[in-house]
Amino acid sequence: MDMNKMISEIKSFAKGVDDILSPVEVIEWFENIAKENNKIKEEIYNKDETGRDIKCYVIGKGETILLYAFPDPGEAVGGTSIKVLTQLLLDEQSSISKMPYRFVIVPCLNFLDQPNNGVKNERLQKTRAQEVDWCLSDPRLETRAIIKIAKKYEPKLTFPLHDEWHSKEYVDPYLGVDPVISKKLATEITEIFAGYDMEMNSEYDDPEMGKGFFNMKSIGPEYKNCTFSLFAKMGHVFVCEVPYGKNLKASSLVEIQLSVFISFINGVFN
Ligand SMILES: [Zn+2]
Repeated sequence: MDMNKMISEIKSFAKGVDDILSPVEVIEWFENIAKENNKIKEEIYNKDETGRDIKCYVIGKGETILLYAFPDPGEAVGGTSIKVLTQLLLDEQSSISKMPYRFVIVPCLNFLDQPNNGVKNERLQKTRAQEVDWCLSDPRLETRAIIKIAKKYEPKLTFPLHDEWHSKEYVDPYLGVDPVISKKLATEITEIFAGYDMEMNSEYDDPEMGKGFFNMKSIGPEYKNCTFSLFAKMGHVFVCEVPYGKNLKASSLVEIQLSVFISFINGVFN
């Protein structure tokens, strides 16, 4: 994989991003592109608590990489990132489109708990009941849907698109991983953030991976109640928490999320 080429493709496609899209905008974009382009296939899973179909989109062939956006209320950056990623995957000229993987993408997992009926983003704090990734013992319909998708495709890598962008305060970036990644890859990811003048979060400091990284297995017994522990039985799982900051452009956030994603694929599979 030519990482430099892929990162420059991400930057060029992210240039078109003016703002972080709302859940409804992301959902509609995927529905429309799947009608126009036969390289992307729509699949319908459970209905959520609102009666809305939970949809996922499949592009490419090979081992599966699973991504899902809007897991929690207000965590919106991933929705815009997966749109840009899909544009890159559908562009035959891009080297990203030539990666030998099947991408399974859920544009919006948790619509029910999104602020303003999903029409407009808002920064807010979630409640425990809204965390669809943290209720394996008593799963919500959304949780059942993502489990069904994961069991069908057995992803070698799962990227749940959580973020701290929803938070009213600036939070330094941090990453949870299972299993742990190499120091080399952790350093590469740290450098991506440093390129945007961002320091890694010192609340997390893994002895092997360094500042800003933590092993999700270290969460303790509660981790068993989380979908991540289930995905980790099939492959790698990583969560990359990007912040909100007045000086952080939407396009930069998308660049960061996708650059970290591509680095991760390169680092664990090549
Ligand atoms: Zn979250």
